[in-house]
Amino acid sequence: MNNKNLNSDIWEKVKLELRDTVSTQNFKTWIQPLNCADIGDGYIKIQAANRFVRQWIQTNYLTKIQSIAEKISGRETVIEIEIADIKTAKPERNKTENNHKAYTNQIHAPSTPKKNTRESNINNEYLFDNFISGNSNQFAAAAAIAVANNPATIYNPLFIYGGVGLGKTHLLNAIGNKIIADQADSEVCYYSSEKFTNELINAIRYGKMEEFRNKFRSIDVLLIDDVQFIAGKERTQEEFFHTFNSLYDSHKQIVVTSDKFPKEIPGLEERLRSRFEWGLIADIQAPDKETKQAILEAKAEKNNIVLPEDVAEFLSSSVISNIRELEGYLVRIGAYASLTSTPITIEMAKEILKDIIVEYNQEITVEDIQKKVTSYFNIKISDIKSAKRTKKFVYPRQIAMYLCRQLTSYSYPEIGEYFGGKDHSTVIHAIKKIEAELQNNTSLKQSIKNIKNTLLPS
Ligand code: ADP
Ligand code: MG
Repeated sequence: MNNKNLNSDIWEKVKLELRDTVSTQNFKTWIQPLNCADIGDGYIKIQAANRFVRQWIQTNYLTKIQSIAEKISGRETVIEIEIADIKTAKPERNKTENNHKAYTNQIHAPSTPKKNTRESNINNEYLFDNFISGNSNQFAAAAAIAVANNPATIYNPLFIYGGVGLGKTHLLNAIGNKIIADQADSEVCYYSSEKFTNELINAIRYGKMEEFRNKFRSIDVLLIDDVQFIAGKERTQEEFFHTFNSLYDSHKQIVVTSDKFPKEIPGLEERLRSRFEWGLIADIQAPDKETKQAILEAKAEKNNIVLPEDVAEFLSSSVISNIRELEGYLVRIGAYASLTSTPITIEMAKEILKDIIVEYNQEITVEDIQKKVTSYFNIKISDIKSAKRTKKFVYPRQIAMYLCRQLTSYSYPEIGEYFGGKDHSTVIHAIKKIEAELQNNTSLKQSIKNIKNTLLPS
């Protein structure tokens, strides 16, 4: 049968249709490079460049690919993704319940990088091993790892953009550390845009342009941080443009970070902007609550801070998305606990951070909590304010009281007032009971998480 041709047509058709359902950028990045390795009746094997691409496709596009393939072929279809580059393939890691993982198991790199010969300016604390990934940064992290594993082959340049404190510098250095760890003789240079500019100014002033140019043009991997700062600086942009071209032409990897998408950087020359768009553009978004919490817990562990889960939750529920800032608060709380030799508690955290976080917490009222809890459990607000003792009402009432204590600054008696004038000991009992149950009741944990999600912007 001439099924083979017919079948590979199917893959082309699937791609064509995918083109209409994803953004051009995503299509170019993820779908376009996928090859069809094998195809049969009800079966398509596609080939991804490396395990990170495969992982990305699996999480983001597999269902879509499958349903389009099924629609086109008119039959159930199994999609398999194999990795073209055997070198980087590793056995599938065990699935854990935790979606937030440091990329430890996904790379071969030892965590202590060797020094490369030239001054690389790289911060060797920033590794993939200690980068926690979640929805907000997973794309950029996967791209960074792909580049570190295959410099100057897949994505060149790699352009990472995102707001302050979201992990751009961390990822940029992690790329450098990984490449140096893999290839000790590779010349990797990390530069902030200011440093690049300053060296350029000095070179001009002292007539050392030749040296400046040679230096930049002989490195293997150039990492430029916060490129938005060269915008508006004519001479720096010009020099960077030439540096970029000569590195690019000799197949050297360039990675650039910025706080904005290339098009949105004011004062950035058009020719640079268009070059930044040649490769892959990956964004980092503000982390969601779970990711913030995972990062805080990892940092706490590293710094030997015993951070109770409710405090971690409290901190990550704040509107702060800047991870550097969050870390600062963690350190502040840790220092306070250690100076006063007392364990960290939610009350302590609230007290220490009251100026920063209370403002936000005050936006949540007891009424908000009562409303969300009762609608979650499908009962009336009057029910949790009542004295009814049936489990159907007692449980939501206790949960609501617990949330009031966590998310507002009301005292026990005040909370009691809001619940139809209950005694403060009733409130304390309710909160204690929920806290105890949270230790091993995962469904309660989930319910509370769900309710909180409706109360707090992430
Ligand atoms: P940016 O360069 O985007 O302003 P940084 O890379 O300097 O942000 O990150 C700020 C701080 O937050 C650093 O200490 C960094 O290690 C930490 N950080 C950011 N994102 C993560 C993450 N996903 N996992 C672990 N630490 C992170
Ligand atoms: Mg930075």
